[in-house]
Amino acid sequence: MKKLLMLVTVLMLSVCALPLATLSLEPEMPPQPASAGADAVSETEREEEPQPAESEMRRRSYDRRTCITLCRGGDTVELSLYDYLSGVLAAEMPANFPEEALKAQALAARTYTLYKLMLYDNGAEIPPEHNGAQMCDDYHHCKAFCDIAAAREEKWGADADYYEARVRSAVEATDGLVAICEGEPIAAVFHAASGSLTESAEDVWGAELPYLTSVESPGGEASPNYSAEVRVKQADFAERVLEKYPQAVLDIPASEWFKDSHRSEAGGVIDVLVGGVRVKGSFVREIAGLNSTNFRVSPTEEELIFTTTGYGHCVGMSQYGARELALEGKTFDEIIRHYFTGVELMLKT
Ligand SMILES: [Zn+2]
Repeated sequence: MKKLLMLVTVLMLSVCALPLATLSLEPEMPPQPASAGADAVSETEREEEPQPAESEMRRRSYDRRTCITLCRGGDTVELSLYDYLSGVLAAEMPANFPEEALKAQALAARTYTLYKLMLYDNGAEIPPEHNGAQMCDDYHHCKAFCDIAAAREEKWGADADYYEARVRSAVEATDGLVAICEGEPIAAVFHAASGSLTESAEDVWGAELPYLTSVESPGGEASPNYSAEVRVKQADFAERVLEKYPQAVLDIPASEWFKDSHRSEAGGVIDVLVGGVRVKGSFVREIAGLNSTNFRVSPTEEELIFTTTGYGHCVGMSQYGARELALEGKTFDEIIRHYFTGVELMLKT
């Protein structure tokens, strides 16, 4: 049953985290010029440096030793977990976020990847869109991915060395670390920004997972998409509802369409009556193109005006929350433990 619920969770990740890294990069700390002298070590000194113990060497190399296949734009490529996670970080989180937030993101992405591989081992089918690859670069399925060379050119520009080093070092600093629950990698999902509380997996996907509960999440309002307004023509909205729920009665004033919403503690609409039919909040989010299920709606003459709080499914780690916790001085493991209730960290070797 547990496996089934996990699988359900994955299948429902069609409303997965929206890549944040497309947001403008305004460095929260200015790029530091490379120091020619401070870290310089003479050849003699270098030779005398103690070599890391063998176990430490193994620990450091887990991500480089582990290969995965990735479907990129229809082509399957094989690459190391280290390169994959670096590309995920480049796509999923602005490289100017605090170091501990980047490390938490690297750990979450590694964990989620191993979680998916575990599902395949347990008999889950690889989605047909993957063309046989284990992962793909579509955030609706897996995680967004941006090749580092492309990120350097298209995102980071003149500060490419600085940002690449930040991304790479966040992956290296967490090499082999995975968040586990009952000995298995967790579905370490994340999203851009929640309201003051994250959503539980049960409220959003109907799958109760002990580590995806609703927790406090600060700092969401720093996201440019924290509050948003979407206007949808009533006729278009009605058409989309009727496509799936032909029994809905929508030939009445739009002010009468929405009734008896059932909200989670975090504020998201779990379900609501639309034209007399009970539909999920995630369905409304999808057909109206909303940032989150935490919405209010008010009709005008021809439109519906939705106002939303938060960005993404709001389950698991909030990326802006991770940023805020890091700014408050929390370390990456504290951030992970904050957002994923009761998990332990395990070192893969
Ligand atoms: Zn995928």
